[in-house]
Amino acid sequence: MASPTQHSSTRLYVDAELGRGAEVMLDADRAHYLRHVLRLEAGATVALFNGRVGEWQARVTDLGKKRAVLTVETQARPQEDGPDLWLAFAPIKHGPIDLIAEKATELGVALLQPVTTQRTAVTRINIARLRANAIEAAQQCERLSVPIVRDAVTLDKLLAEWPHDRCLLLCAEAGSATPIADALQPHAQAPRGNRGAWAILVGPEGGFARAELDALHKLPFVTPVGLGPRILRADTAALAALACWQAILGDGQQRPPHRSFA
Ligand code: SAH
Repeated sequence: MASPTQHSSTRLYVDAELGRGAEVMLDADRAHYLRHVLRLEAGATVALFNGRVGEWQARVTDLGKKRAVLTVETQARPQEDGPDLWLAFAPIKHGPIDLIAEKATELGVALLQPVTTQRTAVTRINIARLRANAIEAAQQCERLSVPIVRDAVTLDKLLAEWPHDRCLLLCAEAGSATPIADALQPHAQAPRGNRGAWAILVGPEGGFARAELDALHKLPFVTPVGLGPRILRADTAALAALACWQAILGDGQQRPPHRSFA
């Protein structure tokens, strides 16, 4: 059977500038990861991306206990901007919130916005951990960017500062709502790249309060959408809505790069 096109299987997100001949220094944790987890040696190739200038092949030129040095060689992929889709979600407990960060990254969100609502039970959110999850998922799924993870805000503040040209899909478990596919389909008439800015809002496990839903319904940029007759867990709802949006308006028609079979 034919094998997939070869490429560096190790991908690392770095903040450093990338360009031919640039030297990128990795800290002790990442040097340890390269040496002891991936068992790489000097001379191995690694793919690097910084979210700005695409993906570059780099060679490990020095791999010590305290640091690793990589020398950037050639560009493997030019930068592409992903779809302009945000996910606003009420914080939920440890496991599921990590899952949202990881899976939403795989599903291509540009920005993750934790939002506290009236019935949000979880108050302590570890933003650094969410960012780490997003980086790890971006490395694994071959994205060229890492989603921005914003600090948590209250729903009131989020809505007060909302950019009115960004459509907000409210995943509404109660009250009137259009099935999500029906709400998105008309926008698929617009040419790709010209479909505007979007966001999805998912409530906490306790659901939105009546007053919150009433207020949201009145806002001109909000479209309440339904995800079927079952009550989904918040993490399921977020991922289902993201997958629908990507299939209808996003990059669902593209194929993964580097995965063609000869
Ligand atoms: N405890 C609430 C349900 C909350 S589910 C109740 O029993 O009514 C958590 C969040 O997931 C909801 O606030 C909503 O944003 C989303 N959600 C769950 N099921 C949904 C559905 N069928 N349609 C749209 N959104 C849904």
